[in-house]
Amino acid sequence: MEELLREMEAYAEKEHVPIINERGRHAFLRIIEECKPRQVLEIGTAIGYSALLMAEQGADDIHITTLELSEERAALAKKFWKRSSYYGCMELHLGDAGEILAKLTPPAGGFDFVFIDAAKGQYVDYFRKVQPLLSKKATIVADNVLFRGYVLGQEKPPRRYKTIVKRLREYLELVQSAPFRTEILSNGDGLAVTYKDTSQLEERI
Ligand code: SAH
Ligand code: MG
Repeated sequence: MEELLREMEAYAEKEHVPIINERGRHAFLRIIEECKPRQVLEIGTAIGYSALLMAEQGADDIHITTLELSEERAALAKKFWKRSSYYGCMELHLGDAGEILAKLTPPAGGFDFVFIDAAKGQYVDYFRKVQPLLSKKATIVADNVLFRGYVLGQEKPPRRYKTIVKRLREYLELVQSAPFRTEILSNGDGLAVTYKDTSQLEERI
């Protein structure tokens, strides 16, 4: 497994596939270990790297539903997974994440962990669409939320990043408001870790 992961990292670097970067990875693994998720939804598979990390660190009976737009990357992800013992845990949906999310049937009890890591301008849309698919206690992690330091930093982003930065700011505002609780980790390109716990809320009703 270690060898496979190293090979994927090397491939990603060579082919410029933006897999979760080394500094973000440690924080990400810590979160997974803490949550031990069973039903995972991943938005943005790429070559299947983060899915493998989650499969390895999550619950023994983990199931990962993962969405990817690129046919080429999806095929590569499957090829890599086949070389691990986690191929059977993976369910890949090919297509536009926004469209798939609108039609996706959640597992019984809902997803307890979501990793948002596809089109940066669409995070708010993904987050909204994911809400009805969640379990009572769910953790939602979004990658790249600090986007090279421009999202919360003082420096003005170059023109071509203006919209992405604006939209990521909107995302952070949304997840920092009730009924959510969010920690923003500056590791890597910025991870937003959002907790949604409606179990107590429903008990009181
Ligand atoms: N989570 C991966 C990296 C994902 S990179 C890892 O850390 O290993 C982001 C991926 O999102 C890319 O592969 C890109 O093709 C995909 N993507 C971009 N827009 C998308 C969309 N609208 N729907 C689904 N996937 C999308
Ligand atoms: Mg990312």
